[in-house]
Amino acid sequence: MNTMEMIRVNNLNKSFGNLQVLKDINLTVKEREVVVLVGASGSGKSTLLRCLNFLELKNSGHIIIDGERIEQNTHDLNTIRKKIGMVFQHFNLFPHMTVLQNIIEAPTHVKRKSKQQAVSEGKVLLGKVGLGDKLHVYPSTLSGGQQQRVAIARALAMNPKVMLFDEPTSALDPELVGEVLGTIKELAKEGMTMVIVTHEMGFAREVADWVIYMHEGRIVEAGTPKEVFDYPQELRTQAFLSSVL
Ligand code: ADP
Ligand code: MG
Repeated sequence: MNTMEMIRVNNLNKSFGNLQVLKDINLTVKEREVVVLVGASGSGKSTLLRCLNFLELKNSGHIIIDGERIEQNTHDLNTIRKKIGMVFQHFNLFPHMTVLQNIIEAPTHVKRKSKQQAVSEGKVLLGKVGLGDKLHVYPSTLSGGQQQRVAIARALAMNPKVMLFDEPTSALDPELVGEVLGTIKELAKEGMTMVIVTHEMGFAREVADWVIYMHEGRIVEAGTPKEVFDYPQELRTQAFLSSVL
């Protein structure tokens, strides 16, 4: 096992009832790499991310996170989830808590950090995402872009080794997309290992080490952004790209 591998997926299959949603998925993400998943709606992108985080349980195959093969029946999945931060399309902040309270909730209750330490780390993270002046406001008073940046800071507060993003800007007004993508680009520069589902192809081209195109539950094509976007080999990839670019 190469210790540089942060995520390895071997022959992953996932069905919902009779519907097979992931078909023999093989994937490796090395430390500090950014992988962007693209594909039409319903192709299985969210399900793949959710399997990586064990929010969905696989039917077969192996998932190895940070060198540990995860057997979903025997391992403590919460331990694994602490290593993996996830950001969703809808920010899912706790509405009855201030921004800072949102950030310190999991570190104090799940990681058992002292409140003082969680607060001081939380302030640093909120400063980093450009919200150092919003510590004590409620999420509903923030724009969608600001709320999503809080959600990113909240995930980072658990010191994850990997961040998963599922269409982090799809619910945002167009003028707010850039600030969230900017925050994710900063994380990429710092060397965070990330898997990102997005329809923002310009962003993907800029930030991705690898682009993976999914179609009907399979990885149909994978390569560098240049390879996949400029020289797609598969007709299905070409058709998809011409529909979104
Ligand atoms: P994508 O994120 O690429 O749009 P999804 O992973 O959300 O695709 O969905 C892939 C397929 O799995 C779709 O056909 C969807 O309807 C189905 N699906 C997703 N989640 C569930 C679920 N919890 N129960 C049943 N079917 C599901
Ligand atoms: Mg999805």
